[in-house]
Amino acid sequence: MYDLIIIGAGPAGLTSAIYALRANKKVLILEAKNYGGQIIDANLIENYPGIPKISGFDFATNLYNQVKDLGGIIKLEKVIKVSEDKIVTTKENEYQAKAIIISTGVDKRKLNLPKEDELIGKGISYCATCDGNFYRNKIVAVVGGGNTALEDALYLSNISTKVYLIHRRDSFKGDDKTLELLKNKDNVEFILKSSVIEILGNEKLDGIKIKNEQEEKEITVDGLFIAIGQEPKNEIFKNIVALDDQGYIESNDGVHTKTKGIYVAGDARCKEIRQLTTAVSDGCVAAMTAIKEMEGK
Ligand code: NAP
Repeated sequence: MYDLIIIGAGPAGLTSAIYALRANKKVLILEAKNYGGQIIDANLIENYPGIPKISGFDFATNLYNQVKDLGGIIKLEKVIKVSEDKIVTTKENEYQAKAIIISTGVDKRKLNLPKEDELIGKGISYCATCDGNFYRNKIVAVVGGGNTALEDALYLSNISTKVYLIHRRDSFKGDDKTLELLKNKDNVEFILKSSVIEILGNEKLDGIKIKNEQEEKEITVDGLFIAIGQEPKNEIFKNIVALDDQGYIESNDGVHTKTKGIYVAGDARCKEIRQLTTAVSDGCVAAMTAIKEMEGK
């Protein structure tokens, strides 16, 4: 029996683990893919208080090592079921805990176009810093209008010969500072008020078809980087938590779900601001609340 099972080893979950381990609790962290969550793909973090500049990979690895050094057990097992009495079932095992923190974060949103899945790794990517190097001196397109798309386009502009930045609106959600840097790049072309409507190619990506109010046209590209935000993956928890209409976990006070002893932290929960700082804050609050309540305080 564990005191606490944490589902998801991103910044929220690993922060929960630090607090619980330091309180001498027996903690198990279950993660489906790899430690670090979304932040591991961030090229550079410049807004984390006290750390002026750090790569997402270094940040996530430091956090992971901090948890391991405290004796944290992290198992790469995909959770498939959680019951009200706090039995967690993975593909391989079954575990029981006094309390559970759900910190599963979000997944990258897809365009949901035909061929999108089959051409992943053959021209389609969701991570410029991971795959950008394969597109050295090639032509790429980035789709999206938030900070990820802007930063991906900037990163790729230093590697690729040409970068198309395609966004469905005429203005961007991402930071002005990054946008200004992009506007000064000779090899970046903005394609606004346009959507990608078709992925072209069979064995590999050959190009894309885009559409605006006036026309449809094809563009030849070697790579398409899809950076259109994230979506939650909380369906498996439907029996123990309430989900909002977008699939985020509801919590009246930001920590408690509708089931006693089951808490939520990080991007998986309903909230206005999803940032690294708010994820680690959630992780701390969820762990401290869980500890207090399991000790009957
Ligand atoms: P985001 O801010 O949610 O932006 C997603 C963008 O994709 C929006 O422009 C959206 O357009 C567009 N989009 C959504 N669905 C689409 C679809 N089906 N087809 C075409 N376009 C679509 O996501 P993000 O850029 O990944 O950023 C997520 C969060 O992380 C933000 O809070 C961001 O500030 C933060 N972040 C921070 C940093 C940093 O601080 N260094 C770096 C990256 C991300 P609409 O506006 O039309 O919906």
